[in-house]
Amino acid sequence: IEREGKVERRRNRLVVLAGPTAVGKGTVSTYIREHYPEVLLSVSATTRAPRPGEVDGVHYYFVDDAEFDRMIRDGELLEHATVHNSYRYGTPRGPIEHALDEGRSVLLEIDLQGARQVRESMPEARLIFLLPPTWEELVRRLIGRGTEDSAEQQRRLETAKVELAAQDEFDHKVVNHDVAEAAREVVDLMKVRAAPSRP
Ligand code: 5GP
Repeated sequence: IEREGKVERRRNRLVVLAGPTAVGKGTVSTYIREHYPEVLLSVSATTRAPRPGEVDGVHYYFVDDAEFDRMIRDGELLEHATVHNSYRYGTPRGPIEHALDEGRSVLLEIDLQGARQVRESMPEARLIFLLPPTWEELVRRLIGRGTEDSAEQQRRLETAKVELAAQDEFDHKVVNHDVAEAAREVVDLMKVRAAPSRP
């Protein structure tokens, strides 16, 4: 019963934003961090190296494999996965529990494998799938950002096809036509109150 009460209090406040590569999850999340400070954007741990401009503790916690293993062993990660067959990423559990207990809303920007794990371990989470307006637009965004070489772009597009096929597992779909609009839709979903349960 206590567990049910906790789940009820947390409903709608833990939101997972997933979606295919290059759809703009990062851009939408950053927009939310900047415009909706009441929402905690979870900071993941990763074994990849920082890109120019990325700050440890703000964009990610940059850790080595040994430290990542330790975090898993000590139960510090809510979920973790190897993404794009290369580096490991995981969501630290502590800050999320703390924020939810304080009544704040929390946004996780993670991949599909991670979203599935959160769905299992925290059934009160709301899962949002961010969609590109069209497949052609997704290809254009991936090539346009120019952060991957063409072999890696090809790999990511293959993964994107598989990921798009999973969209019906999600509670909500948001189409990313415009960053500010998509961010507003995500935040609005957090504010929706659950219908009162029947006596
Ligand atoms: P990037 O290296 O470009 O920042 O992120 C690559 C991918 O890792 C993105 O699809 C992002 O959603 C995913 N990712 C980032 N943090 C986490 C995390 O904590 N857990 C999981 N499962 N995926 C993550």
